[in-house]
Amino acid sequence: MLIDGKTKTVALIGNPVEHSFSPFIHNYGFKINNLNMVYINHSVKKDDFREAIQGIKALGYTGANITYPYKTEVMKYLDEISDESKLIGAVNTIKNENGKLIGYNTDGLGFIHGLMQEKVKIENKTICLLGAGGAARSIAISMCLNFNCRVIICNRNIKKAEQISSIINNEDIDFLGKIVKVISPDELNLKGVDILVNCTPVGMSNLSDSVPFEDRLNFSKNMVVYDLIYTPYETKFLTFAKEHGCLTYNGLDMLIGQAVLAFEIWTDMPLDFYSVKKQFKKII
Ligand code: NAP
Repeated sequence: MLIDGKTKTVALIGNPVEHSFSPFIHNYGFKINNLNMVYINHSVKKDDFREAIQGIKALGYTGANITYPYKTEVMKYLDEISDESKLIGAVNTIKNENGKLIGYNTDGLGFIHGLMQEKVKIENKTICLLGAGGAARSIAISMCLNFNCRVIICNRNIKKAEQISSIINNEDIDFLGKIVKVISPDELNLKGVDILVNCTPVGMSNLSDSVPFEDRLNFSKNMVVYDLIYTPYETKFLTFAKEHGCLTYNGLDMLIGQAVLAFEIWTDMPLDFYSVKKQFKKII
């Protein structure tokens, strides 16, 4: 698709953004759907962030993705925020609806979308999350809003895990699932766990030789083991799990899942998960 006078723009706003695969996914989606739209990255400094968000309105952008470190800060500059994003306390997708900026969070739902594509069931399952940062929080909240499931959160800083638990186990809100346990790494035991998710950065960058809470990982055969990391494509955590007969998935599914849901918010059109995944085979 050629850029012309009618091309609509969607932006990624964060810092850093140069490494992001989002332009690859969305520009592919626009192309195969014949949409005259373009997705571009903007690396924005902290002092310029407010003006950057106002710029979505001023420049008539269709919307934006918001990434590190602005997913929470952005909330104060929006006109409306979805209930799920309010509970998560973060927004990763904005739609500009006739000058009104509406905030959504597709991270947790994107994780679920990825699992559903792989036919992994969440209903009535026990899920253990390693880590209690932003990713674990969005996954725990979206899973418990949408499924009757039991979630265990294991984190070094137990207070962070308790904060997530206090949101979900609050009886004033209609969550279908529950946080059944909040534990420190030395209490971790995978007996009875159906799905284990690494939501820590252990396994990437300078930690690529490490496995999160390695001596506590009593995997069982056919357990679903998921790592939110996708570079490296297979972390040591996933290799270790595979050796124990587990079914393993990397973070590419969540990345694609959150993107296809954001794409649908901006365009009202579906983007096929597997067709995007196939494109990644050419570059990863
Ligand atoms: P975050 O908010 O910084 O949280 C990091 C969590 O990991 C915290 O709970 C922290 O524990 C724990 N942690 C950090 N270093 C650790 C270590 N050395 N040993 C044990 N625990 C450690 O980060 P996030 O945004 O949740 O992201 C977490 C991971 O998910 C990152 O690898 C990120 O790249 C990945 N991610 C992937 C996707 C995707 O689409 N695939 C999306 C979002 C995030 P403490 O609280 O005890 O410090």
